[in-house]
Amino acid sequence: MRRELVHFSDPILRTPTWHVTGEDIKDLVEDMRGRVDVRRCVGIAANQLGSNLRVCVVALSSGIEVMVNPAIVSASEETEPADEGCLSFDKVQVTVYRPVSVTVRWEDEKQEAMHEQTFTGFDARVVQHEIDHLDGVVMTDRVSRSVRRRLQAQGKA
Ligand SMILES: [Zn+2]
Repeated sequence: MRRELVHFSDPILRTPTWHVTGEDIKDLVEDMRGRVDVRRCVGIAANQLGSNLRVCVVALSSGIEVMVNPAIVSASEETEPADEGCLSFDKVQVTVYRPVSVTVRWEDEKQEAMHEQTFTGFDARVVQHEIDHLDGVVMTDRVSRSVRRRLQAQGKA
C-alpha cells in the first residue's frame, strides 16, 4: 500500500510516535524504503506517512538502514550548522545547528536485534532529523523565531 505523504501543517507531525511492540510493520517499512535514496530523499519517518509508530528509514554512507524505536544515547557537545530540507515541506531549506556526532540505539525491522552505533557528519544529521520527526519535532522548530516567522508569513511553515 502506498501511503499519502503528510504535509507540514498536519498535527501528526507534531505528535510523538509510539514505541513499536510487535506491531506488523512490514508493509509500512516497504512503503518507506521505496521512497528513500541517497540522491533525492535521505530519510523518512513513519509519521510523515501518517503512521504513529516509531520507525524511520535512512540512507547513510553505509547504506539504507531501517530503525525501529531509535533513540539518541549521547550527543557531542560540539554542534555545526548545515542546510536541511524535508519531504513534508515544499521547497524549504533552513540552516539547522545539530551535534556533530550522536550515538544511536535502535532495533532492526524484525525487532530481533538491537544496534548501537555512533554517527558523525552528514549521517549524524540525517539520523537526528528523522528521530526529531519521531519525537514530533520538525526542522523549522530548530531555527530562530525570526526565520520561522518569515516562513510562516510565506505559508511555508
Ligand atoms: Zn523531514
